[in-house]
Amino acid sequence: MKETLQLETSPLNNSKKTSTWTIENSENLYYIKGWGEPYFSINAAGHITVSPQGDLGVSLDLYELVQSLKKRNISFPLLIRFSDILADRLARLNASFDRAIARYNYPNKYQGVYPIKCNQHRHIVETIVNYSKSYQFGLEAGSKPELMIALATLDPSLIAPNYAPIIICNGYKDPAYIKTAILATQLGYKPIIVIEQLEELFLTLEISKQLGIEPSLGVRAKLSTKGSGRWGNSTGDRAKFGLTIPEILTVVEYLKSEENLHYLQLLHFHIGSQIASISVIKDAIREASQIYIQLAKVNPNMQYLDVGGGLGVDYDGSKTNFYASKNYNMQNYANDIVAEVKESCEAANIEAPILISESGRAIAAHHSVLIFDVLNTNDVCTTPPEFIAENDNLIIRNLWQTYESIDVKNYQETYHDAIQFKEEAISLFNFGYLSLAERAKAEQLYWACCQKILEITRHQDYVPDDLEDLEKTMASIYYINLSVFQSAPDSWAIDQLFPIMPIHRLDEEPTQRAILADLTCDSDGKIDQFIDLRDVKSVLELHRLKTLESGHHETQSKGKKIKNETKMAEPYYLGMFLVGAYQEIMGNLHNLFGDINVIHISMSTKGYEIEHLVKGDTIKEVLSYVQYDAEALLESMRQRTEKALQDHRLTLEESQQLLQDYEENLNHYTYLVSDQEKSKS
Ligand SMILES: *Cc1c(COP(=O)(O)O)cnc(C)c1O
Repeated sequence: MKETLQLETSPLNNSKKTSTWTIENSENLYYIKGWGEPYFSINAAGHITVSPQGDLGVSLDLYELVQSLKKRNISFPLLIRFSDILADRLARLNASFDRAIARYNYPNKYQGVYPIKCNQHRHIVETIVNYSKSYQFGLEAGSKPELMIALATLDPSLIAPNYAPIIICNGYKDPAYIKTAILATQLGYKPIIVIEQLEELFLTLEISKQLGIEPSLGVRAKLSTKGSGRWGNSTGDRAKFGLTIPEILTVVEYLKSEENLHYLQLLHFHIGSQIASISVIKDAIREASQIYIQLAKVNPNMQYLDVGGGLGVDYDGSKTNFYASKNYNMQNYANDIVAEVKESCEAANIEAPILISESGRAIAAHHSVLIFDVLNTNDVCTTPPEFIAENDNLIIRNLWQTYESIDVKNYQETYHDAIQFKEEAISLFNFGYLSLAERAKAEQLYWACCQKILEITRHQDYVPDDLEDLEKTMASIYYINLSVFQSAPDSWAIDQLFPIMPIHRLDEEPTQRAILADLTCDSDGKIDQFIDLRDVKSVLELHRLKTLESGHHETQSKGKKIKNETKMAEPYYLGMFLVGAYQEIMGNLHNLFGDINVIHISMSTKGYEIEHLVKGDTIKEVLSYVQYDAEALLESMRQRTEKALQDHRLTLEESQQLLQDYEENLNHYTYLVSDQEKSKS
């Protein structure tokens, strides 16, 4: 039958390049068009290419880039940032609103702000500020430190005359925050202090009176529109931030009584990040438009409607309202906001406001790619024992028979037989009836059965429920040179999905099914959920590592083959994509794996240019974060080796070697560095 034939030529038994696999197969397998367009694609060489300027402009081969960075002694893991992608995202966001404004004849303009909390790194905020001059883009601060970044980075004198760059001041505010914000007005900014708690209003008015400077105020409304997904509780009456409608009225009454109602200029709301469904956004805009209209009726100085963040990123490429995706694009988002506000204001005969959005994720996510290497793999051994003897234990013979009999008709039944026999074998062992070698044989046979069954299920349209986990159980473990806690914290903390795929060998069939295990000694330090068009995949298709023949030698020992260490012939690089938003700052030092190396790339007419290299933490730096002093550590090591030397437990050479290595290590990267790399540096 056809099925048995497929079994014999199964890709898993054959690591050689299969000629039928094409890069189109890889495109479909990893959905790169869904989440990667227009920035990431696959070239004829089977490498990922990056087109930082989108459809226009040049592209570069990511694998070649990685090779050339490696020649410059830059170690992995490595975060590559493409400044041109940031610029392109900004341009797209502004163009989307411009198109919507033209299409609906919206009688006012769009002026976005970048929420600094999304990625605060200096080069990023500077790049955004630099590219956004032509759009009158501003910044949003959610804390005092972020306000300080905003003030130092945005230069009012460099931006168009008669335009004061907007700084939206969100978050908890103490007197110092408010004072700095108000004084900044005199530097040529337009700071808008968003009242999120009533006390902030009284504080702001008091400080402004002392300074004799009028503040621009906003109110953050708690909408009743239910957010959705992970951040769904950013809205509603019990949300952490914002004012309820009665509280907003109190603000209005109080300002009016002080004859300061004209201070109030902006209405803000934020219904959470990564909003997957456009209908949630529409509902929120509708409600907010009505609140805006009511405020504008009593206060003609209302000018801005700030729709917050939430514009989603399609991490899995499925274009659905799944939490890792979104069922709308940037243009739909802009259209719906512009159309809804226009319609509501027109009907109420209210002047349409300047529209502000605080899109962070949608601007920053695409520009960073995390590159890391695979250190090693661990596969379930699925080769059956070479022979089964007549006098082997009955349980072993039963397992062997089961193995032999597996076919497309009985695979579900034989699976349960195999499980039962394996469990029996373990009981027998526990009672002393089976030797260690016999138990090994039984386990080997059990895994061989599972493998055979798995290969059958892969060719079935329908997999019975009880066999669904088989793929996961049989998955190879790929050990990666990375800490999930440091570099992809959302994947660990909130099960966020990021697209992950090899950046080369994409013209070869990926024959392995794997989960990824990171460097930390934490069983949570793994990735076992991957993007999928329909749902979530529990294993990722990857290539078998290329190992050196010489390191592959097998030792003959009492007729058994023992595989020796395998040396890698060629590193295997994976990329984790769309990691530019939120990941870096939320990362932590679990097991003291520190910040990773970061490189900023910009495109030039000649190709690409390395704008900045930001070196990751050394061991010494990471140790200092937990209050260890490198000198003191070295000193105690010196004393300890001296003592061992005197007691003749170490030779002079050994003691020197130990101290020298210890000292050198202090200045090394916290991640694994191969010997070759070490000797070069
Ligand atoms: C986090 C946050 C944002 C950014 O949200 P994104 O979904 O990343 O665009 C905007 N505004 C406020 C108030 C926020 O807290």
